[in-house]
Amino acid sequence: MGMALRYRQRSSRRRPARYSAMSLVRHGLSGAAWPRVWRHHELRPGYDVVIVGGGVHGLATAYYLAANHGTTNVAVLERGYLGGGGSGRNTAIIRSNYLTPEGVRFYDRSVHLYSTLAADLNFNVMFSRRGHLTLAHSDSALRTMRWRAEVNKLHGVDSEVVDPAEVAALAPRLDTSANTRYPILGGLYHPPGGIIRHDAVVWGYARAADAHGVHLHQGTEVVGIDVAGGAIRGVRTNRGSIATPVVVNCTAGWSSLVSELAGVRLPITTLPLQAAVTEPVRPFLDTVVVSGTLHVYVSQTDRGELVFGAAVDPYPSYSTRGSLEFTEGVATNVLELMPSLASLRVLRQWAGLCDMTPDYSPIMGRTPVDGFYLDVGWGTYGFKAGPVAGETMAELVATGSTPDLIAGFDLARFAEGRMVGERGAAAVGH
Ligand SMILES: Cc1cc2nc3c(=O)[nH]c(=O)nc-3n(C[C@H](O)[C@H](O)[C@H](O)COP(=O)(O)OP(=O)(O)OC[C@H]3O[C@@H](n4cnc5c(N)ncnc54)[C@H](O)[C@@H]3O)c2cc1C
Repeated sequence: MGMALRYRQRSSRRRPARYSAMSLVRHGLSGAAWPRVWRHHELRPGYDVVIVGGGVHGLATAYYLAANHGTTNVAVLERGYLGGGGSGRNTAIIRSNYLTPEGVRFYDRSVHLYSTLAADLNFNVMFSRRGHLTLAHSDSALRTMRWRAEVNKLHGVDSEVVDPAEVAALAPRLDTSANTRYPILGGLYHPPGGIIRHDAVVWGYARAADAHGVHLHQGTEVVGIDVAGGAIRGVRTNRGSIATPVVVNCTAGWSSLVSELAGVRLPITTLPLQAAVTEPVRPFLDTVVVSGTLHVYVSQTDRGELVFGAAVDPYPSYSTRGSLEFTEGVATNVLELMPSLASLRVLRQWAGLCDMTPDYSPIMGRTPVDGFYLDVGWGTYGFKAGPVAGETMAELVATGSTPDLIAGFDLARFAEGRMVGERGAAAVGH
């Protein structure tokens, strides 16, 4: 591995309870309590790796460090609770039909990892591959879709442009008539896309990382990062100081603030993103439907609720309050697409923070401070990247070499003018 194992400690590995039909029956009959999914630990004075942020990215990085590279003297520091950031607030869309070759290859690896994640973690993450349909309401949107479909196919990703009749067959409740304000001219259909249970992904990674001996520290806020001689020395937290040669910043919406603690400035703006969910109704929508022109997307959960999302709020903020403007806008736009939903009631709405980069691609890899790594810039689309980001960041930290899949996402690209422009595929269709 790339760094010295200076803080080797007694291993705290354990075998997690095996989840299966048999163990369910056994526990049901015996009444025995299930063990806690992850444990509480005191802070060690030092760790080989400190990961800041207990969302899907921090937890996946910790898990793959331990599982793939045997690096287990790792702490994940989370100032609130695991999954309390964007990872517990997103609308859980998984897809890989991006626009750039870098994006398509990267997200495709994540879809692949997600497809076996339930078995790998022995935790049901409820990945439902129901297809992802992006609507075109103009010739220029259709042109971009043809471009996306070709890039996708070149990289082996199933994605094709469909005509209005095929759109109607995929989502019969859509108003595909010519009399609407934004008639539907076609769409980009991506069968491998779908939705997942986001909390289960977070808990599954947390449980597996804990089983490997990783320490998960909730209620632990990083308030300072010690740098000397251009290298990381440790972090200061509300629970005390930790010595470490490696800090991985996985704090999404707060990532520019945490980077500043190490003296690294990021080209990131934080904006809120809102979503809403309706009362449950009988299943009628089999695909995820997105309209970039109307700034809206809709999917139906396994429970029958409709999940609505939109583009980010139009101003930078760290507030996670919902707004009436959002609800009115999303309702108006959903009804443009599906007028028959007019009598449905919205049950609740919420907001999370998004760390937007200028080119809508992430920032991953090294920084000018030795030992300070970034896994940030996840904007409105980072949940689907959790597994591949964890896998590649773990490889980088453990081996010292940058995996090809993330080479294009380095911080230096902004100074050197090597943008990876994903806006055409990432602005609304998270
Ligand atoms: C409404 C909404 C819908 C979305 N829909 C989708 C979607 O459909 N598909 C998709 O792929 N993505 C979607 N996203 C984006 C996705 O949620 C995020 O990109 C992703 O969850 C980021 O994960 P993360 O682990 O990097 O960060 P987070 O889950 O945000 O975790 C970061 C953690 O860092 C912690 N933290 C911050 N500062 C500190 C500190 N100083 N010390 C310790 N801890 C700290 C925070 O408490 C937080 O828990 C959506 C986001 C929102 C808000």
